[in-house]
Amino acid sequence: MPKRQCQEALDKLFEFIDGEMSDEDLLRIGAHLKECPPCEAEHEINEKIRLLVSQAHGDKAPHQLRERVLRTLQMARDEYK
Ligand SMILES: [Zn+2]
Repeated sequence: MPKRQCQEALDKLFEFIDGEMSDEDLLRIGAHLKECPPCEAEHEINEKIRLLVSQAHGDKAPHQLRERVLRTLQMARDEYK
């Protein structure tokens, strides 16, 4: 699995969950998640976080909070390597 695809999928997970991307991207990321278990797992975690964030802060997560969550996830990934 090319790492570049994983990077793109992981970078766009929040957009994917929010549906804030073109249909083409949605299909591409969705297809990648299906064939890449590590990204799929990451997606499930992000979806749970997104749900918690939306419950706590209304429909849309504040940008700053989203950035913080993304940074935390990135740090967790770096430690995992
Ligand atoms: Zn992947």
